[in-house]
Amino acid sequence: MPETTNIITVDVEDWYHSSLDLFKDSPVQHGAKPEPSVVDNTIQTLDLLSETDNRATFFVLATVAEHYPDIVKEILNKGHEVATHGYCHKLIYNMRPEEFEDDLKISLEHLNRAGCDHILGYRAPYWSITKRSLWALGILRKLGFKYDSSIFPIRRGLYGIPNAPTHPHKVSEGLWEFPPATIRFLGINLPIAGGGYLRLMPYKLISRAISKSISKYVRVFYFHPYELDPTDVHLKHKVKSVGTVAYWLQQKLGRGSNPDKLKRLLSEFKFTSIKETLSSLETH
Ligand SMILES: [Zn+2]
Repeated sequence: MPETTNIITVDVEDWYHSSLDLFKDSPVQHGAKPEPSVVDNTIQTLDLLSETDNRATFFVLATVAEHYPDIVKEILNKGHEVATHGYCHKLIYNMRPEEFEDDLKISLEHLNRAGCDHILGYRAPYWSITKRSLWALGILRKLGFKYDSSIFPIRRGLYGIPNAPTHPHKVSEGLWEFPPATIRFLGINLPIAGGGYLRLMPYKLISRAISKSISKYVRVFYFHPYELDPTDVHLKHKVKSVGTVAYWLQQKLGRGSNPDKLKRLLSEFKFTSIKETLSSLETH
């Protein structure tokens, strides 16, 4: 295994899934059909990964697999890993354990139907495996998952366990945790892994953090296919939150330059999937 490994992961969903917590007036029903733009944006993502010669892990929201199975097949055909992002995109700590287990099983059924036979990994919506929902790890293990990538080692209102390990580790026999990348600054973990953090942070800071070599350090990054399309911030439902400062910060600010930033990141550094990294970790 090389001294440092960079992992790129892609959460395949519509833009508003990442911002649902903004909306008190619930614009989209959980489990609704995703917009067709998710397919075009995922094709763009696949093209970018081919151009930059990187392999990724795609955490696919199962409603995408349900309504657009061909795009899931295409992800597999291009040699990437497909893992699950669940079905309903609900906060785990607001679900009962049985509800979470059903959500996972439904997601696996849709992904299996789309051609994914053996799913190894899971990522929770909004990183919502927190101290309140650690029971979810037992259910993942029970269903045969080999890894989770849902525990953000930072403090944030909606998610995070600030003192959680910042590198891949076993949470129980047979189940690994792959936390998103952070840097240590003034005694706290700062997120650099992707989404809004990557969008709002200067590229130089990110590249300097990645270049800083830490022995056997594994960094997990993430983005969403819609981040490659600055125009994909529409919503057919009228909601109060569109136009607010929170919406502007979470979705609009820096969105125009984000595709170039992602392209630069994927060109300047080598990335791989969680599956490949896991097999290296398990043989060392
Ligand atoms: Zn999500």
